[in-house]
Amino acid sequence: ANGSLKVFNAFIKSADELGVKISVELKEEKGKTNLLSKSGCQGFCQMGPLVNILPSGILYTKVKVEDVKEILEKSIKADEVIERLCYNDNGKVCKGQNEIPFYQKQSRMVLKQCGVVDPENIDEYIFDGGYRAAKKACIDMTDKEICDVVLAAGLRGRGGGGFPTGKKWDLTRVQQRDKKYIICNGDEGDPGAFMDRSVMEGNPHSVIEGMIIAAKAIGADEGYVYVRTEYGLAVERMKKAVEAAVQKGVLGKNIFGSAHNFTLHVMEGAGAFVCGEETALIASIEGKRGMPSPKPPFPAQSGLWEKPTAINNVETLATVPLVINYGADSFRQLGTPQSPGTKTFALTGQVLNTGLIEVPMGTTLRQVVFDTAGGVTDEKGKVDDKNFKAVQIGGPSGGCLTKEHLDLPLDFDSLKKVGAMVGSGGLVVMNQNTCMVKMAKFFMQFTQNESCGKCVLCREGTRQMLLMLEDITEGRADENTLTLLEKLAKAVQVGSLCGLGKTAPNPVLSTLRYFRDEYNAHVKDKR
Ligand code: SF4
Repeated sequence: ANGSLKVFNAFIKSADELGVKISVELKEEKGKTNLLSKSGCQGFCQMGPLVNILPSGILYTKVKVEDVKEILEKSIKADEVIERLCYNDNGKVCKGQNEIPFYQKQSRMVLKQCGVVDPENIDEYIFDGGYRAAKKACIDMTDKEICDVVLAAGLRGRGGGGFPTGKKWDLTRVQQRDKKYIICNGDEGDPGAFMDRSVMEGNPHSVIEGMIIAAKAIGADEGYVYVRTEYGLAVERMKKAVEAAVQKGVLGKNIFGSAHNFTLHVMEGAGAFVCGEETALIASIEGKRGMPSPKPPFPAQSGLWEKPTAINNVETLATVPLVINYGADSFRQLGTPQSPGTKTFALTGQVLNTGLIEVPMGTTLRQVVFDTAGGVTDEKGKVDDKNFKAVQIGGPSGGCLTKEHLDLPLDFDSLKKVGAMVGSGGLVVMNQNTCMVKMAKFFMQFTQNESCGKCVLCREGTRQMLLMLEDITEGRADENTLTLLEKLAKAVQVGSLCGLGKTAPNPVLSTLRYFRDEYNAHVKDKR
């Protein structure tokens, strides 16, 4: 959207004009040839197009076609590291990514190769150490050993719930059945969340590698990557990556010369938010309407076509190769004892830097908002940290965090204690000008639209809640409406079957808890 492809083509044209040797394919050549490669998302979304010069590590931001010749002349042709970076408007000069505050406080593990390897070139992934973990798991490890390492690492599902991945795999592994499946849940659909999309677009082979390891661990020989159809580029890249992996012998029969066979399909979901719920996702793959069903039986016992099935989220699977390559102790060096490792967040809203970030679990909200995001902005885009009001975390299933939570560690358990959740990882920062009631109404509208209609309390309850929120914001409500809204929100939580309905009232309940005065003001305004 920012014109990166035009910049890419300008490099080919200008290199030719300047006599700089550039190849768009990774190959061994005599003499100096520079590799020009398209990469996945580097996270710093608002500063794109980004051009990263390796190995010097110079990062050019907001690159225009007319900048290309100069970049080639100064960074590549002259073969010297120059100190020039179009980083920001005040003329700051940095040498590399690590000197930019947006990247400084991050620990990019899962996202490390996003923005470095060409997602459409399996050789680049392999050259950068890719598929080493899958090979090790297939050849040197038993299914139980893999489950044990992942359990010891304390890896918890990055899709929201935080269930231990090793435990989920072990529950599936012990089922004595002729057929099992592994599914990658790429149905990310929360407003403000784009972590899984970026991983699938930027490093699809890391997801495939995680799936090969998971398949070996549970004893599955077939798997599905379920990607929402709106993620066109992610679908395309996942499909290309699967094809390339088959051609390389990484997928198929006797992979890496082991006895392990694994076939992988990419399936597009039709865009229903509820299909992110695992039983609805399974129904969708089976060709049925995507509706959740009661548990038990859990997918580990009876999942896809009634066979034991493990379902993991994209980020979880992309993390698995790191655990296998470096071991449980190394993985535990980042994060907290109960939530080891890192977490990616999609950072949006009224902050200086928006984009995709990855920080150790347990990083405080203050560090994310004021350091990584560069602070809260006012209506004119000027940083004014006193303007901080709240953060909506975890999308429509999550809750809001306020000033009193700025020193709260962002991990599964700490967030749960204050009525919020990691959820998918969307972080929307709001300033003082945001109306929290309207924000809650926005998310209620979303979940109301996405309710599959199976349960009365979710179908009708969220509708009535939305009508009440409309009454409140449009001046038709009184004190009784607030009491009724709170009562109904609690009933919807209890009386809904799946996570969508159970968590739909969270934005309303958390704003009622922390910003009741704003609800009262709407009611009072009416009088
Ligand atoms: Fe469908 Fe809502 Fe019931 Fe979930 S809680 S099954 S989305 S009606």
